[in-house]
Amino acid sequence: MKRLQQEYQPMRRIFYRPRQIDAEDGKYHIRKEEPSLARICSGCGAISLEKRWFFDKALKEELINSGQFEYECCPGCAAVEAEEVGGVVLLSGGFLEGRTDELLKAIQHEEEELRADNPASMIINIASSGENIVIRTANPFMAERIGKKLKKAYDGELAIIWSHEDRLVRVYWSREE
Ligand SMILES: [Zn+2]
Repeated sequence: MKRLQQEYQPMRRIFYRPRQIDAEDGKYHIRKEEPSLARICSGCGAISLEKRWFFDKALKEELINSGQFEYECCPGCAAVEAEEVGGVVLLSGGFLEGRTDELLKAIQHEEEELRADNPASMIINIASSGENIVIRTANPFMAERIGKKLKKAYDGELAIIWSHEDRLVRVYWSREE
């Protein structure tokens, strides 16, 4: 994150690539390519520059003030909208009793951390029946991370099962007491 923020300030570097060497005559030229317009996700406020999505509050305000952007749905919000499930995490066992709020807080904290790196990491929905908690995520990697985080923090049993082609992961975490 830090590296990105530095890289894209000041403003003019958002729209123009830096000076590059022309291989043909070995001299420096400013390569005049089409400026790439910045995008802001209307759902979550993530920013995209040259197809990379990230969060930067200050840069977002700057872009809104400049008017040099378009609104576009980020991959995370698009997946949530389309309910494109990449991962399913199932929590079960007697340990859950009375601890649902605590566990959900830990999971949402993990989501925030993952989203800072990759806005495509979003929880699509969470269903809690009291005995089980089911979390569906847009990103399979994210479901795996949540499972590993639970195992690390609360021990218990963890199973991670990838479907063929690795497009969907099912994560089972359980602890009896
Ligand atoms: Zn978004």
